[in-house]
This record gives sequence, C-alpha cells and structure tokens, in this order.
Amino acid sequence: MDYKKIGLKCGIEIHQQLEGRKLFCDCPTTLRDDNPDFTIRRKLRAVAGEHGEIDVAALQEQLKGKEFIYQGYQDTTCLVETDSEPPHELNQEALYTTLQLCKMVEASVSPIVQVMRKTVVDGSNTSGFQRTALIARGGEIETSEGKVRIENISLEEDACKIISESHDEKVYRLDRLGIPLIEIGTAPDIKTPEQCQETAEKIGMFLRSLPGVKRGLGTIRQDVNVSVKDGARIEIKGAQELKMIPTLVELEVKRQLELLKIKEELRGVRLDEFEVAELNVLLQDTEAKILKKTLESNGKILGMKLNYFNGYLGRELQPGYRLGTEFSGRAKVKAGVGGIFHSDELPNYGIIDKEVKLIKKKLKCAPEDGFVLVADTEKKVNLALEAVYERAKELFQGIPKEVRKANADGTTTFMRPMPGADRMYPETDVPLIKPDLSQVQLPELLEEKIKRYQQSFGLSLDLAKFVAKHNHVLFEELVEKHKKIKPAFIAETITSVPLEIKRKYELDSSRLTEDNFKQLFQYLEEEKIHKDIVLDVLIDMVKGQFTIKKYESLSTEELHRVIKEIIEKNKSAPFGALMGMCMKQLAGKASGEVISRELKRLME
Ligand SMILES: [Zn+2]
Repeated sequence: MDYKKIGLKCGIEIHQQLEGRKLFCDCPTTLRDDNPDFTIRRKLRAVAGEHGEIDVAALQEQLKGKEFIYQGYQDTTCLVETDSEPPHELNQEALYTTLQLCKMVEASVSPIVQVMRKTVVDGSNTSGFQRTALIARGGEIETSEGKVRIENISLEEDACKIISESHDEKVYRLDRLGIPLIEIGTAPDIKTPEQCQETAEKIGMFLRSLPGVKRGLGTIRQDVNVSVKDGARIEIKGAQELKMIPTLVELEVKRQLELLKIKEELRGVRLDEFEVAELNVLLQDTEAKILKKTLESNGKILGMKLNYFNGYLGRELQPGYRLGTEFSGRAKVKAGVGGIFHSDELPNYGIIDKEVKLIKKKLKCAPEDGFVLVADTEKKVNLALEAVYERAKELFQGIPKEVRKANADGTTTFMRPMPGADRMYPETDVPLIKPDLSQVQLPELLEEKIKRYQQSFGLSLDLAKFVAKHNHVLFEELVEKHKKIKPAFIAETITSVPLEIKRKYELDSSRLTEDNFKQLFQYLEEEKIHKDIVLDVLIDMVKGQFTIKKYESLSTEELHRVIKEIIEKNKSAPFGALMGMCMKQLAGKASGEVISRELKRLME
C-alpha cells in the first residue's frame, strides 16, 4: 500500500494514569475488586451548550434513557467522586509529573492553566462532564520515519470503570473516577502504520520514565486517529496492544477506501424515501429462531428496501466486516437491537429461500435492490431501520466522522458520532493555575536507565529492561546499600525469584513487600543466611512463616560437627544417602552446594 498516495493522516492520543492521589480530592488512586460499600442511582440529561446547541453525542446517549448506578467505597472514595461536593485544588504532584513530561519533550507550557469541563453523557462521570486542563502545546517525538509533532499535553481526570450494562441501566464503579491522567495528543504527522506503533512506543517510554506514573495492565490507553484523502477523521478508541496498532491503522484505511469506492460506484443512484413494511403476517409460520421469538413476544418484524443495494450489503470493507456489518453497528448503538438481517446474507439463520422471495415481493424489490430486516419491539425496530437508512444515505456523501472501538482482531465497531465543539466550558470551582517550570527536574529516561544498568551493573539486556520498568527504585536502593552483593544477584532475586515462586510453586508472590526484600538482603549481608537458599526464604515470607532462627547459617565448625556425626552413625552409607541425611538435618541452614563440598571433604 502506498500510504503517501492515498494521503494517510494519522495521529495518536495516549492516556497514562498517575499514581498517588486523585486529581481533585485526597482519595488514593487504588483500583478495587472487592464489594462496594454503597451504591447511588442517577439519571443524566443533555442540556444546551454555550452556543445553544445540544451536542449530538450527548443527545444520542440521552435517547437511550438509561439509569446510572454508581458503586463506591467509604474509605477510598469521597463526596467529590459522587459529585456532592465541589472539586478541591488540583493535585500538585500530578501537575509536577505532567510538567516533567513537558520538559522531556520540550513542549511549551501555558503560563496560565484553566481547568475546563468536557461534556460526557454516557454516565461514566457522575457530574456529566470530565475535568481537563491543557498544560502545554508543541514539542516533538523523533521516529525513524521523521518527526511527529505533539499537539497537546493535558492533565485530566479518569472516568468511572464500567461494571455492567443492560437495556435500562449502566453500573459504574467510582474507584477509577478522578485518577489523574496525562493525555498526549500528536499532530496527524504519522505517515505509515508502523510509524504509528513506533510513536506510541516512544511516548510510552517517556511516560514510563516518569516516577509518578501507574504501572501495569490498563494504566496506559491508546487512541488512534486515521483518515485518508477524501475520507474522514475516525477516532479509534482503546488500542490495547502496541503490536496491533499497525493492523488497526491498515484496516481502517481499507474500510475508508472501500467506502469511497462504493460512493463512486453509487454515483447517479438516488436512494428512495424512507419507508418500512410490516412482515409479521407474511412471516407468521417462520422457523427462524429470532423471528419466531419476536412474534411470540408480540414484537415487530419490519423490512426496508434499499434500492440498488443488492450485492453491496455483503461487500467486505475489512476481513469479515461487511457493509451490512457497518449498518448493523449503527442499529445496535442507536436502537439497542441485537443486529439486522440483510438480503445478501439470506437465506440463512433459519430464514428460507421461499420467505426471502416473499419479502422481496412485499417490499417491491427489483433484482438490483437489497433489503434489511429487523425484529424486536416496535420502537426499537423503527429506530434501527432509521439508523440503517441514515447510514445508507451517508454513503452517498462520503465517510461520516465517527468514534469507533478497537476490537482485538484489529477491526473496529461503531461507538458514536464524532462529538461536536460544544463540549467544553470553564470549570469555575477550580482556581487558575500558574505552572512553575523552574523547579522541575528531568527524570532519567528509561532507555538511559537500561543502558546504565547494563554498563555499570553488568545486567543482561532483558534483566536490565525488566528491572528498569518494574522495580528500579527498590533495585537501586539495595545496590547502594549492599555493596558486597552483586547487583545482578539483587536484580535476579527481586524479579525472577518471585516469578518462579508464582509459576513453580503456585504461590501469590505479589504478597512479597519491599520490606521483605530489604530484610532478606540485610540477612545476606550479615551472612545470617546463605545466598543459595533465598528461594526458600522468600517462599516462607509469602506464606508468612519466615523466622530467622530456621535459617541462621551455621559456622563451619558447627557444620562439620553435624556432618561428622552423620558419617559416624552411618559408616557404610554411600555418598548419596549421606547427602540426603545431611540436607534433611541442615535444611535452610546451609546450601546444598556447601553441604556437598564439606561432606566430600570429610569423607576422604
Ligand atoms: Zn475523593
């Protein structure tokens, strides 16, 4: 694919959660899975923005008339999260971390920062808006395919976590609401799918170099913006894996090119007026499961002709994703139906050829016409067909601007129309902020740290990477304190040994605290325990059974005394048997290696 020729424009937006306290209250940023202490119910209403218009995205969510349920905790959420109390002052540590990033990428920081409210009506925010503050503009990222400019660096609050969703209610949890997020958006300077991944990696590396960021799965989220010449800007939300980013971009390019091709082919065609026909009587004897169920529950089966669409509904836009899928995506979101049936996939799903012919006749379909069928409650079916008709009409104009959700296989699903400009207005409960860059110190870059660990401490590349990303604070503290102990041994002990405990012994090694490791190395330093038995010590620590008495190393004389005694008592026993007995008696007090060496010596 010649991306230059098709005019690919691509930008990326990255959100990184910060550690510590929430952005506008003192609650910790702890994410929880245990049962909530309380729940509250709310309904949200769309209101006109400053220009008097109701935002399309806001309106659409309201149409669904859902109720929102919020789950909270007495000790880690407060009145700010439930929107019962105004926000407190902006978290200064979160601001400092954001300023560190600004300094790293040489973005120019605003002299005065105004916190804004951004309308969000999906219920993921109790207030109906998200607070966001533009901290800086400009700066750039260097990639192997050229520079990518940074457009904005913002500090904003994370939304609630969704727990479940049904037809009339959405359940959210408040633990994630208000966690500080750094948002970095690039200009649409990215020219290829690979460069998009590289840019995301680079920005991720900068972010992980900051001491104040949260680490682990789900703490960083990527959104990708894609358009081609004559296409439209599509925002793809929630790219999970970095290595899937090129596929996401490629497939979105393909979807837009296919849609443009269809537009070209449909030139001169005019879509008939919106008209639907009821098919309940016509299909009363159907064996198709979904249709039968609809008839039994007094629902409606409605059909709509789409003139000239025969063959188009089944056209693939992405692998396994057809124009019919595109229509269905709209109907699902706008009407809440399970999906649609279209003529290019029938007969199928229990709908037989004879029925297809009857439907075509009823809808007055000519050979070149297609049709769409929906079965559900009357209200939903009408909404669904309207949504399909609207999407079909858009084909003649080009590509509608949309927000889409990334699927695991690289395809995408319609989420909502691109939000309008009415979404932002000032948050007057938070005073203006004057960022002070003069005191901000640059952190060591992750890349530099990895290199330093390899060069100064002799770690392998893999080990250096792992430690730098996950435990660098503890590692450096231990290396500094215990100069007698090899840094590589320290690195292995705090990274590989817990993994081994988890995999081989199926124990929860995440229960090991930094204090456990500090204690372990203190005993090693004092030679109270031997380095060959750190695994046993850590296992006991996980189990909460550790006592130093069990492990205290014996002096060589004492060791010799025990071994000699065993040899004396078992004069004819072979080495292996003696070794077994020694190990049993000396378990934890000396390593196998030492016992074996001393045993051999004493047997001679
Ligand atoms: Zn709070």
